[in-house]
Amino acid sequence: MEHQLLIYNTLTRRKEVFKPLHAPHVGMYVCGPTVYGDPHLGHARPAITFDLLFRYLKHLGYKVRYVRNITDVGHLEHDADEGEDKIAKKARLEQLEPMEVAQYYTNRYHEAMDALNVLRPSIEPQASGHIIEQIALVEEILKNGYAYESQGSVYFDVAKYNKDHHYGKLSGRNLEDVLNTSRQLDGQEEKHNPADFALWKHAQPEHIMRWPSPWGEGFPGWHCECTAMGRKYLGAHFDIHGGGMDLIFPHHECEIAQSVASQGDDMVHYWMHNNMLTVNGQKMGKSYNNFITLEELFNGTHPLLEQAYTPMTIRFFTLQAHYRSTVDFGNEALKAAEKGLERLMDAVSGLERVTPAKTSSVEVTPLRQKCYEAMDDDLNTPIVIAHLFEGAKMVNNLLAGNDTITAEDLKELKETFHLFCFDILGLKAEATSNAAREEAFGHVVDMLLEERAKAKANKDWATSDKIRNELTALGFEIKDGKEGTEWRLNK
Ligand SMILES: [Zn+2]
Repeated sequence: MEHQLLIYNTLTRRKEVFKPLHAPHVGMYVCGPTVYGDPHLGHARPAITFDLLFRYLKHLGYKVRYVRNITDVGHLEHDADEGEDKIAKKARLEQLEPMEVAQYYTNRYHEAMDALNVLRPSIEPQASGHIIEQIALVEEILKNGYAYESQGSVYFDVAKYNKDHHYGKLSGRNLEDVLNTSRQLDGQEEKHNPADFALWKHAQPEHIMRWPSPWGEGFPGWHCECTAMGRKYLGAHFDIHGGGMDLIFPHHECEIAQSVASQGDDMVHYWMHNNMLTVNGQKMGKSYNNFITLEELFNGTHPLLEQAYTPMTIRFFTLQAHYRSTVDFGNEALKAAEKGLERLMDAVSGLERVTPAKTSSVEVTPLRQKCYEAMDDDLNTPIVIAHLFEGAKMVNNLLAGNDTITAEDLKELKETFHLFCFDILGLKAEATSNAAREEAFGHVVDMLLEERAKAKANKDWATSDKIRNELTALGFEIKDGKEGTEWRLNK
């Protein structure tokens, strides 16, 4: 079938038909993590959102080059060019090399994303490995007159740029709004204007992450890496740039300005942003005591959590909301998602037990079509999931014998479920935890031993011996004592 994929473009504020610049190739850049702490809930949402897009574009037949960067230098504690570098600070506190910190948390990020079944991007470039490209970008902007050097640092001249172009077109701001919200901070007297942002920062003597440049030793400004690396790996014009809504300003606005100031136009065709998440209705943050890492979620160790939630529950829960809506994490909602996911996975496994009949009393073909329509409408996963639940009802009716299905229709139904649940939504079947399984099997053995006790009481030696012998043959050691019968598994 012909697909007309609509995606919402933050820049134009409307849904647009997705037309790649060089079909069948698609270039997609997503801002990745700053690797100075354990991956948390806030990392899961953009990763899952753009993984969904990556999977869907590939399914539609595009050859996707997906670039997601690792920020390991230049991201200061406060976004407004002040404070310590996040990675350098962690390195100082933990007495590690900055690159040790970056590597450790990159590995931790990968482990968590693998658990969430998030596919690895095609290229995962590090900011520290692209200093040369970032210096070249700063030189171009300087040459075009949109930046100035000040005491070994280079700043972007926002006022000058705004005379020729619109600074704020992505976030819908104008320079006056920006100026009104820019704080006048210590050490900012180097700037001509508080709205200016750093392209290159002069390194203070204590700063350990530093590189030589035409302006002395220093390090790149945070916004430079995405412009420089996006251009290097995807070209001067590429299709999609994504990230969380919190990155629209200043990060993506500054990326647009850097791109226009260096090459004359914007590199990106479609800007896509996922909405934010709250925890029990509150913004997530270290100061609110509701900052939950993914490991704490998977183990249930955070005080706000009533239980552990599997990575697939988190993934399913995230996809139950449209990526442009907010998501509120809370125990009740997560437990409901856990049940919903179980229902869906039961339907997928239930399909294997359906016996085909000569005729179908169900209509299976519309399901695939309806799921595609929802995906094509700006990745409307809650609607896809609602259709899959309708399909699950159908499976239950087939299993209960209320409906019949032909072999051909059954094949179509299985394929549709597998395609949308696994390939596109990226869910996977999770084994019930070992502990829960062992507990359930243990109760079965207890039940058998109760039956044996009853048989003995009735002097039904044949039955009591049979139970004992068969359990022994399976590797169970049965010990009769004064307190009753004990057992253990000798395997
Ligand atoms: Zn970025």
